[in-house]
Amino acid sequence: MVGEHIDTGQLAANLASARQRVADAARAAGRDPGEVRLLLAVKTQSADVVRAVVEAGADLLGHNRAQELAATGPALAEPGTPPHEMHFIGHLQTNKINQVLRWAGCVQTVDSLRLADKLDAAVSRRAADGAPPEPLDVMVQVNTSGEATKAGVAPERAVELASAVGRLKHLRLRGLMTIGAHTPEEAVVRASYDDLAALRAEILASGAPGTDGAGELSMGMSADLETAVAAGATMVRLGTAVFGPRPAP
Ligand SMILES: *Cc1c(COP(=O)(O)O)cnc(C)c1O
Repeated sequence: MVGEHIDTGQLAANLASARQRVADAARAAGRDPGEVRLLLAVKTQSADVVRAVVEAGADLLGHNRAQELAATGPALAEPGTPPHEMHFIGHLQTNKINQVLRWAGCVQTVDSLRLADKLDAAVSRRAADGAPPEPLDVMVQVNTSGEATKAGVAPERAVELASAVGRLKHLRLRGLMTIGAHTPEEAVVRASYDDLAALRAEILASGAPGTDGAGELSMGMSADLETAVAAGATMVRLGTAVFGPRPAP
């Protein structure tokens, strides 16, 4: 947006209260607040806002759309930008893989072996082109709510997919991600988060090669982060709690 006014003081205050909310949720659940990271979901925010929030101290961001990720990439690559991690948290079309690899260090939304294979091949090609041959961090996205509109592998296939991803040389499995059930009924939301936590335990216990680093549980958004933290989230993804309501799509 041209000439957009950014209230950096307000952004910083919102970020501080979001951090407080996450820490309070951790303590209420008997957990160490240091176990739960805050990822800011920056979809629809301008590059200037994204840069401003990083300057305000946000160190972990997530983009949903490859195009928006590429549009904010240069602003965040400018010298003097505080260190931060960028994750990809949206549906990834295979023709956008290279764009995403350029700007994101983790893809949280691997939901098929086909996508994992393509990511693995793309990382290996980048290595051949002189980029550092580091594996790409990924998470397996699980559709714990069973809602047809949600992406993710079915829970009963998640362990199998995680083991297959663990075997890929250029990917490093970091954990699981889900979008909770879309309902005000807390018990239903909680069940979907408990399911993700149970799948993580199953994967870690499997001893399958490449799965021992799969400790992350990326779950919980502005409306339900307390429920997710109580169920064991290690990363909550907040948008509206920090940026305010998004314009209707
Ligand atoms: C937008 C989004 C969020 C954040 O949602 P809010 O309700 O705005 O906090 C989290 N995760 C994903 C995948 C998203 O697309």
